[in-house]
Amino acid sequence: MQNSRPDPLLPEGVLLHREKATLWPASANVLAVRDSEGLSLVDVGCGHEETYLRLKEFLASQGFRIHDVHTVVLTHAHPDHMGAMRFLLQEIRPRVLLHPVEVPLAAEPSRLNQTFGMDIPFRYGMADIPRERADIIEYFRSLCPMAGAEATHELEPGGELRLGEFTFQVVETPGHANGLVSLFEESTGLLFSADAVGEVVAWYAPQSGGLTGFLEGLDRLEALPAALLVPSHGGVSGRPAEEIARTRAYLLRREEKIIRQLASGPLPFPELVKRIFKNPLIHLFPGPQIIQCHLDKLEAEGRVRLHGEEEGWLVELVP
Ligand SMILES: [Zn+2]
Ligand SMILES: [Zn+2]
Repeated sequence: MQNSRPDPLLPEGVLLHREKATLWPASANVLAVRDSEGLSLVDVGCGHEETYLRLKEFLASQGFRIHDVHTVVLTHAHPDHMGAMRFLLQEIRPRVLLHPVEVPLAAEPSRLNQTFGMDIPFRYGMADIPRERADIIEYFRSLCPMAGAEATHELEPGGELRLGEFTFQVVETPGHANGLVSLFEESTGLLFSADAVGEVVAWYAPQSGGLTGFLEGLDRLEALPAALLVPSHGGVSGRPAEEIARTRAYLLRREEKIIRQLASGPLPFPELVKRIFKNPLIHLFPGPQIIQCHLDKLEAEGRVRLHGEEEGWLVELVP
């Protein structure tokens, strides 16, 4: 149900449309920033018509119409953050801003198959469907439909973004998406963490920045004097440092689990995936992609070795 009262934790002029469900791929929260000209939105949610109508109802409850929206900032080109552009662009023509590497993905969403690492389960013989059926846009069609959108402007990584009376720092937080950005507003301490930190730790893939990129992004967020954290999935938190630390701990716990599995001897890559992820639904995506990210990091640190196909894709600890 809509809450028409402004969130008491948020600074005056900043509104948050929170989606109830947080389990991926639930629709992302939408942040709205008011100014004298109208509204800027950060993300717009899934491409289900009901989701778009809920967003419009929320804006109406705050005294705005969709025609008041002059700017849309997309934190990254994923269906749960930008699918609703399908409906929004039928009504208005706002400025659309994205990180430069997300611009081509937003324009042509079929390119997401590459960034989601859909080649990985096939490399290891883990997929029992034809290669052409492993289409991420098709996979999302019923869960959270995607839409294409042309960016009108690019966000400047590390630069500033002016929305209303607020100046946000554009913080690069890759891992889950190469051009995933978090937004930090210094005067209020507001950190919009997008998918870098949230109620559930997001998936990651080597072609989306990998685990190393993910951890570096968390370092960047940790260095900010944030007072309030607003994630794309989940509720507002007054303890940003704890939320960031919890995300990091979760990622490192997964690394420990992998090492523990390998401690009693080498395992083929597919078997390692199945031991870490019990749910067979994620053995095509994002299980193999996540494990590949961990092995990339551990190999770079000289802690594991991943053998080739001739050796059955064996993964072993380096003694
Ligand atoms: Zn995402
Ligand atoms: Zn998301």
